[in-house]
Amino acid sequence: MIPVLMPTFKRADLAFERGEGAWLFAADGRRFLDFGAGIAVSSLGHAHPGLIAAIAEQAGRVMHVSNLYRIPQAEELAAKLVAHSFADSVFFCNSGAEANEGMVKMIRRDQAMRGHPERTRIICCDGAFHGRTLAMLAATGNPAYLEGFGEPVPGFDHVPFNNLNTLRAAITPETAGIMVEPVQGESGIKVADRHFMQGLRQVCDEFGLVLGFDEVQTGMGRTGRLFAHEWYDVKPDIISVAKGIAGGFPMGAILATEEVASHMTPGTHGTTFGGNPLACAAGNVVMDELLSPGFMEHVRRTGEALGGMLEQLVRDWPEVFSDARGIGLMRGLRCVPPLADVMQAALHEGLLAVSAGDNVLRLVPPLIVTEDECRDACARLARAAAALADKAGGMAA
Ligand SMILES: *Cc1c(COP(=O)(O)O)cnc(C)c1O
Repeated sequence: MIPVLMPTFKRADLAFERGEGAWLFAADGRRFLDFGAGIAVSSLGHAHPGLIAAIAEQAGRVMHVSNLYRIPQAEELAAKLVAHSFADSVFFCNSGAEANEGMVKMIRRDQAMRGHPERTRIICCDGAFHGRTLAMLAATGNPAYLEGFGEPVPGFDHVPFNNLNTLRAAITPETAGIMVEPVQGESGIKVADRHFMQGLRQVCDEFGLVLGFDEVQTGMGRTGRLFAHEWYDVKPDIISVAKGIAGGFPMGAILATEEVASHMTPGTHGTTFGGNPLACAAGNVVMDELLSPGFMEHVRRTGEALGGMLEQLVRDWPEVFSDARGIGLMRGLRCVPPLADVMQAALHEGLLAVSAGDNVLRLVPPLIVTEDECRDACARLARAAAALADKAGGMAA
């Protein structure tokens, strides 16, 4: 019989009762160090007192009013995002895919309003992940995800990641813009080259294209800067964010320059829930924490320390881990055995992580994680590696 929850996810047989910081507690009393953070979402960790207080307080006043009225909490959050980014204006929505959909609409509309309605196509990268809506499936381009869902939505071209020459060659008179993740998350924590990122800006300026970054996973402090593109000294025209933006409350946002945003006049885009008082109350707490003195410095320092520990794991367990990659607190460990076996062994040691493409174990802890907790996580990974190496040795013998 079919489960009451549609079986679209391969779930671990594990349910959590509560969390605290970087830790999750299962109903049966086991505790887990959470280096998955609900897929890079729980940026302030679990049960963050400030987040709890703000959500409870806002829920007690008013949760939702719709975008037919002014929403002071949204104005406050947008003003903070604008003050600390390239952007001049913000649109709030509810998820990463929805943010990317809006971003593509805005790229196309900017071209149309500038006299180029024929420019509708978006260049994306192989290995990208942009979400699961019909258009974002086409933007993602992964044949496995498209299977059985009919004609892919037209308008998306794919080129190899980090290859500027092929990208230039893919530009046609119908190209409207580019949508790229500064660090590809789902396909295995692949960090964009500096040359590639800066080249994207030059190419867009040269051909009059709109430069969009999908920062759904890399944004809101994940890589040690508020937005990952800051590492590259590249100014985009538009970006999407989501995942960590409200610390676990569902929220997405599109940040754009005045040039791009100015075409989004009343009626051109919309959302019922997006940017409601409750979501924005949560978003404001996250943003205030990220902006508090020393917070981003903590993410950079802890991220670098974690990176060093992961490299040590690769040196210590070459039969289990073949490569450590990533930036800030967005890290990956490429595995030699099947990823599912490594995930299972880590889980057995009380460590939660997320799978990614390229047989990579994705480590994206809450941004408040301590260096000691990173050391603890790596000790658990070492024990998991020892168990896997034992098993492999036993089988060979
Ligand atoms: C997770 C993710 C998305 C999709 O976000 P949803 O909230 O699941 O729709 C899009 N782009 C990137 C880079 C992501 O990591």
